[in-house]
Amino acid sequence: MLHLKPKEKDRKKFPIPDELYSALQEAWFIINESKRDPDIRIDYGDSIQVLPWLVGGRVGTKKRPYEFTYYVGGDRKIRWHLGIHPLDIEDIVDRRMSELVLYCCRTLGCGFKSSDPDSHCDCDYERDPNFGHFQSKDVSEVLMRRSITGISEASTESDIVAILGDPDETGDGGQIDAIGFVPRWIKYYLKDCQLHFEFDSRKLKMLTIMERDWEPGK
Ligand SMILES: [Zn+2]
Repeated sequence: MLHLKPKEKDRKKFPIPDELYSALQEAWFIINESKRDPDIRIDYGDSIQVLPWLVGGRVGTKKRPYEFTYYVGGDRKIRWHLGIHPLDIEDIVDRRMSELVLYCCRTLGCGFKSSDPDSHCDCDYERDPNFGHFQSKDVSEVLMRRSITGISEASTESDIVAILGDPDETGDGGQIDAIGFVPRWIKYYLKDCQLHFEFDSRKLKMLTIMERDWEPGK
């Protein structure tokens, strides 16, 4: 399970690269065309595409309605995130504005930059060892860290119920169309997490610890 742990970013001014200038020129053309032609939609995340450099749309805030991802050199691995007002796009295209203030990730080789100080790259996420999937042999130790004792790889469902009480949710398991075989499971909602125990012919097989507000498919 990945947790957001934002790292400090450097605020710097950057000259607008030629390829970004050209891509914004093209994007500005598409934006203006959309005013004349209702069939040109620009109001979803990748509705404006100037490949391989720029993808975006009018999905941002009132202050910065346009959001673009700029792939530096057309390389999908190095990206700038740009929230931008149409007046600024116009100023860039008309060469009245030649620099952008961007918040830069400090991790070597990442290259992520953003006009929004609160926007994140992969470097801002860390794996939390207290969440995720755990094999039955590790369950005892993992639960001990949460001050739950007495549950181990030898525990059956009724052993666990004896310690934690009646589960908040259960699933019978079996064959489910479109998913395949699902094992018997029980789930508890604790103060800061969910505990999802899975069984294989009554033996504890796996424990998954999720955040308290986790929902399937989210
Ligand atoms: Zn980064």
